[in-house]
Amino acid sequence: VTTDTKAAAKAALAGGATDGGRPVLRLNGVRKSFNGVEVLKGISFDVNRHEVVALLGPSGSGKSTLMKCVNLLEQVDDGQIWLGDTDITDPRADQDRIRARIGVVFQQFNLFPHMTVLKNVTLAARKVHHWPKDKADARALELLDRIGMRAKAGAYPDQLSGGQQQRVAIARALMTDPELLLLDEITSALDPMLVGEVLTMVAELKEQGTTILMATHEMGFAHDAADRVVLLRGGVIAENGTPREVMDESQDPATREFFSHFR
Ligand code: ADP
Ligand code: MG
Repeated sequence: VTTDTKAAAKAALAGGATDGGRPVLRLNGVRKSFNGVEVLKGISFDVNRHEVVALLGPSGSGKSTLMKCVNLLEQVDDGQIWLGDTDITDPRADQDRIRARIGVVFQQFNLFPHMTVLKNVTLAARKVHHWPKDKADARALELLDRIGMRAKAGAYPDQLSGGQQQRVAIARALMTDPELLLLDEITSALDPMLVGEVLTMVAELKEQGTTILMATHEMGFAHDAADRVVLLRGGVIAENGTPREVMDESQDPATREFFSHFR
């Protein structure tokens, strides 16, 4: 069975067949400068439904900036970003509604230390999206149950391992059943022993059809789990293809040099 057939089957099951195959995320000519220095120089690519796209590139290449533009934490200088059929770069767009459609996990400091796991997971749903307590608690406990963390609902973050904390952060990001999950180097701050459990959770989400854009330096995972890799270099997209095309078969000397550091 080819990946395409699998994706089509999943799309049909998820009721996604009515969207005409529109990408979940589309970036079109996105530009962003800080203090006169252009970090993103016209970035265009799509993330399709049920796809896991790994966003790769050296430190400072603009991966986080790109993700922040998608999550509306930064404003683009030029270009458009579409989430489904919503132009989220339109100043009239409803930011809270858009954020409810995107789940986000960062490298660290994801959980509030003075709140229990349950409080952390339900906070945004209740305060930002105005869910009633019953609905938020039920959804949170269901998600915690799925990742084997229900027994930790009353625990505080410092009673969890870093890996458990990041898994809780992913659960929180899934509260509103987002169309897109943004993962920005979520294993970079972890003890190497704890990286695996977090990546396993990402792989499980992929199996369930979650659409994911993830910045990562875990090249083995990107190679094995991503449907596509996008390589940023010098503010532009240097490569966009399957892991094999980009990581194994690219003839571009700079691309080969980049991946040689991870062998
Ligand atoms: P990456 O995530 O790939 O490491 P970043 O997006 O964090 O890269 O950073 C890209 C560049 O933009 C870096 O040179 C960084 O210093 C700069 N940058 C990012 N955010 C800001 C900001 N808020 N103000 C000024 N410069 C920034
Ligand atoms: Mg970054």
